[in-house]
Amino acid sequence: MLRVQRVLLNSRPGSNGEPVPSNFRVEEATVQPDLKEGQVLIRTLFLSVDPYMRCRMNDDTGVEYLAPWRLSEVIDGGGVGVVESSRYEALSAGDTVTSLNWHWQTHDIMDGKLLQKVDPKLVDGHVSHFLGAVGMPGLTALFGVRKKGHVTRGANQTMVVSGAAGACGSIAGQIGRLDGCSRVVGICGSDEKCRALVEDLGFSAAINYRQEEVATALKGSCPNGVDVYFDNVGGSISDAVIAQMNNGGHVILCGQISQYNKDVPYPPPLCHETMETLRSKNITRERFMVLNYMEKHEAGIVQLSQWVIDGKIKVLETVLNGIDNMGVAFCSMMKGGNIGKQIVKISD
Ligand code: NDP
Repeated sequence: MLRVQRVLLNSRPGSNGEPVPSNFRVEEATVQPDLKEGQVLIRTLFLSVDPYMRCRMNDDTGVEYLAPWRLSEVIDGGGVGVVESSRYEALSAGDTVTSLNWHWQTHDIMDGKLLQKVDPKLVDGHVSHFLGAVGMPGLTALFGVRKKGHVTRGANQTMVVSGAAGACGSIAGQIGRLDGCSRVVGICGSDEKCRALVEDLGFSAAINYRQEEVATALKGSCPNGVDVYFDNVGGSISDAVIAQMNNGGHVILCGQISQYNKDVPYPPPLCHETMETLRSKNITRERFMVLNYMEKHEAGIVQLSQWVIDGKIKVLETVLNGIDNMGVAFCSMMKGGNIGKQIVKISD
């Protein structure tokens, strides 16, 4: 028997509540390491905490493509790890694998066919990147910008990114610059994040929404108005950005994290003024979901990996250690404790 640690959903925060670490519970268990045909034994290296998990903490997620986590059951989400033994023909011991439905557990037995094999060379050995810049958040940034942003090289466009220092935002802004926006301005929640955006990631300017009045700061940093808005947060920040958008602009509706602890539908309703701005200025704001572009994932991963290896995209990560920190990491990320992708390291 193999002794493992795993994380269960202990309680729900309520659809109008802030999640707290005690919503999660760590327990010891054993795994029977004898594999059946088609199964593999995996050891977890890194686990991901992501904003979409907030709705999985409710008994009704409000969206058809995500199931709620069940009370006292092992939580699942993005993970990456290594195959320790295999009875699945396409995987061998030592392979690096990933899944969006990885159990929050130190070792696990999984059906080999539910795992994707990944090549550590694509991330120069930094396999945690498969959960961030060269994984789902990176693809969200890439497809969001490319499918909904209408960025046109040479068109002198200004892009604004909210949640700009996070996993998706930090990559989206860099892709906006690579694809030809002449200005990329980030909005985020601390001076340290603003500094990282401008000095490390090459954003033109950054606004700390906790310290500055967003509307005033935007007037200064976007003198020609806003053409493309990569929206990760919604709420009053987005109202302020949309108010300064140009005719024919495009909102990339990526996420609305400022509303996730509230019992509202997704996407949350907009105020009348913002609706009127979108209508009168002919601004597009279509719902975007990375899962709708599954057939392009492989090519997207290759593109992101190439940018990272060539140094064209810089990667930021915040790493906590240990499976007992999963709940802490999730709650911290939801409140802005992360710069770049929030990762939890589970084993070496
Ligand atoms: P991040 O790494 O950006 O982490 C979340 C960040 O949100 C925090 O660091 C915090 O940064 C910010 N935040 C939290 N509360 C607020 C608030 N009230 N107002 C403003 N900012 C807030 O997470 P991800 O990059 O993984 O996700 C970003 C967004 O993208 C989310 O909305 C998520 O749901 C969405 N998403 C959408 C996908 C899709 O297919 N459409 C796929 C993946 C993600 P700060 O310090 O700046 O406040």
